[in-house]
Amino acid sequence: MADVVLKNVCKIYDDNGFKAVDDFNLDIKDREFIVLVGPSGCGKSTTLRMVAGLEDISSGTISIDGTIVNDVAPKDRDIAMVFQNYALYPHMSVFDNMAFGLKLRHLPKKEIVERVQEAAEILGITELLDRRPKALSGGQRQRVAVGRAIVRKPKVFLFDEPLSNLDAKMRVQMRVEISRLHNRLGATMIYVTHDQTEAMTMGDRIVVMESGRVQQVADPMTLYNKPANKFVAGFIGMPPMNFFNGGIVSGDNGLSFKNEHVNIPIPPEWKDKIGGMAGKEAVFGIRPEDIGSTRAEEEPGMPSVSLDVEVVEPMGSETYIYSTIGNNGVVAKLDAWRNFKVGDKAELKFFMPNAHIFDGSGIALV
Ligand code: ATP
Repeated sequence: MADVVLKNVCKIYDDNGFKAVDDFNLDIKDREFIVLVGPSGCGKSTTLRMVAGLEDISSGTISIDGTIVNDVAPKDRDIAMVFQNYALYPHMSVFDNMAFGLKLRHLPKKEIVERVQEAAEILGITELLDRRPKALSGGQRQRVAVGRAIVRKPKVFLFDEPLSNLDAKMRVQMRVEISRLHNRLGATMIYVTHDQTEAMTMGDRIVVMESGRVQQVADPMTLYNKPANKFVAGFIGMPPMNFFNGGIVSGDNGLSFKNEHVNIPIPPEWKDKIGGMAGKEAVFGIRPEDIGSTRAEEEPGMPSVSLDVEVVEPMGSETYIYSTIGNNGVVAKLDAWRNFKVGDKAELKFFMPNAHIFDGSGIALV
């Protein structure tokens, strides 16, 4: 298996001059599971396709296992790619689909059979080997597509939104299977998705991209708890983080975050990080689960807000309530037993140790 290093990688599409990837740097370790995540058009597929060799690199270098591969043909990069649309040959059996790449490489017949059978066993599709793709469910087709990659025993696996065509339940199942596969094969994997749940649950590290630029690279919990900026804070987490625009003001009781509708005292321990912000614009961010949670209510000295409950969404184990403060929509994720109804007034506290302050340009200060 192998490490993959991207250095100052840029992609400008010749036909329209569009800069799809801008100065991408990443050191992917051997056996690491890296997820590239971001909204549609952020450049994640382009980045993956450059690693695969399906797209030219405009500038910068990509190396696999210590060798720069910028000018190496895709078939000689020792990678295998699994696509969203499976890309199976409809006229071939599952066995032949999985064996096809090996036959092209002129592997001995015995080894081809052994590799296909082993991969089929890992994926639980042994009994499907004689079928054609049209006689398979979406989940089974996706397994065949993964199997076709496994038999190659590549240095690096690349996945481009492989679960997008599956229904919600099958996505969860395949997600777990791919994570298991990663543990079992100990392979380097790069996985592209726009789904933040997939990113959080599968990645050793996650690369969040927007407009062709890397916003943050971190393990899932660091990304969640210490987002580098407002974009990452808002992209990771469901429902998303609540944001309030306002400013930092200095008063008799110290600093506070203030706008027309809220006045939140700043914890003294944040002073070092935002002391210089007095009089400046800022954004206050708090996740739905940090409004009205048990620890927010029990921790002494937490500020509270009064919310008019506008919408209630019971999720079973918890309930989301939606409200508005000024022009800002607010959502709180509460224990189901709180049992609020539309029209109620909810007095809820903010758990300040988990809150965030962003400066005017969106950089996280706390
Ligand atoms: P999605 O999740 O929608 O696939 P993505 O993050 O994978 O999005 P890319 O497919 O990498 O995004 O595209 C990045 C940007 O480059 C987009 O704005 C897209 O329109 C543009 N782009 C992609 N392919 C080409 C191309 N062949 N020629 C010109 N522009 C392109």
